[in-house]
Amino acid sequence: MDLRFRDYTTALSEFEQAVWVQCPRCNGPVLSRCLDERLTWRIACPDCSYIKTASRSAKQKPMPWWTDGWWAEYRKHGDAVDPVFGLPLWLQVPCCGHVLWAYNELHLEFLEAYVQASIRERQGRKGNHHGIAVRLPRWMKLARNRSSILKEIGYLRARLTDPCQER
Ligand SMILES: [Zn+2]
Repeated sequence: MDLRFRDYTTALSEFEQAVWVQCPRCNGPVLSRCLDERLTWRIACPDCSYIKTASRSAKQKPMPWWTDGWWAEYRKHGDAVDPVFGLPLWLQVPCCGHVLWAYNELHLEFLEAYVQASIRERQGRKGNHHGIAVRLPRWMKLARNRSSILKEIGYLRARLTDPCQER
């Protein structure tokens, strides 16, 4: 059966509400939650009690994601850091010579639907520039990488329930 993919409007920012990151203190998984209208996020680690709040509107303060170091970190992790704290994403894994990453389970589901689809129907080319599907890297679009990517998506999903999951 041919699976179809038609979602060319969902933007990456729609998955920012809850982002799994690596706790900077204990290295375990912790959720970065959006507290309001995409302005303030909070991390509260259940294991080590690390707490940090960050606000996007407070540009006057030297926040990590506005500094040069943030961008260096961003590139180092192949974009696999969260957009507010600049912490490494919990859901990331080497895949096909690149890094496969996701913010959360819904994001994983989105990527899975895209990669599984043998027919990708892009409708209405205008106004879709913020959609993730348009911006996905070429290696994620190749049929020959499909099984590898799906396998790693499965691994990342398992990592959400068992942080010690082996690859
Ligand atoms: Zn912690």
